[in-house]
Amino acid sequence: MGSSDEQPFILIAEDEPNIASFAKMYLEAAGFRVDVADRGDTALEKIDADKPDLLLLDLNLPGVDGFEVTRRIRQGGGSMPILMLTARDEPVDKVVGLELGADDYVTKPFDPRELVARVRAVLRRSNGQADQVDPDMPPVLEVDDLRIEVGPREVYVGDTEVALTPKEFDLLATLVQARGLVLSREQLLERVWGYTFLGDSRTIDVHVRQLRRKLGDACPIETVWGTGYKVAARR
Ligand code: CA
Repeated sequence: MGSSDEQPFILIAEDEPNIASFAKMYLEAAGFRVDVADRGDTALEKIDADKPDLLLLDLNLPGVDGFEVTRRIRQGGGSMPILMLTARDEPVDKVVGLELGADDYVTKPFDPRELVARVRAVLRRSNGQADQVDPDMPPVLEVDDLRIEVGPREVYVGDTEVALTPKEFDLLATLVQARGLVLSREQLLERVWGYTFLGDSRTIDVHVRQLRRKLGDACPIETVWGTGYKVAARR
């Protein structure tokens, strides 16, 4: 991660030259340093060598596709933010990509202002883990067998630690801290992702599904139909 006194460095992995140069132009105008890779394998090499602050990733890439790029980064323990570029007519791609560990997505063709806003939001969320935690949040949150250690960002079911992505952790901690209250998808997008106007409720639903899968019966998140999600109040 680049230090705050230098411009964030973004790697664009995109094989369509027009889209790559369009994105590069706008991101540079917004103050970012930008490099482009036109193949997935080249992108992985550049990530290793140059340690970008954020990856803007087309999913349909020659060499190694975007799903596989995401999988390799996350399997290697890399936490670099990944913003996917997805085609409008392939909605399932977004879900698969988010489940593999991408942070967010932008649908092509994109409005350059939307692209810059999403890049900034993802960087803001990933810069400095301390910023992600509400300063008023208690150090430990507990619901039955589930224990959330807020400082080290660790989650346990009984004595077993469960590995969560940063967004899964923030979403879970936010809902548990607000227990008893129903939070709408828009409120969750604002609190956890840091924006509202670009919100897509699908992002929240995918992350809740992942939390339920990882935590099993210990997942305290309840769906409130037509409204959002909640964790039941302490009885
Ligand atoms: Ca492509």
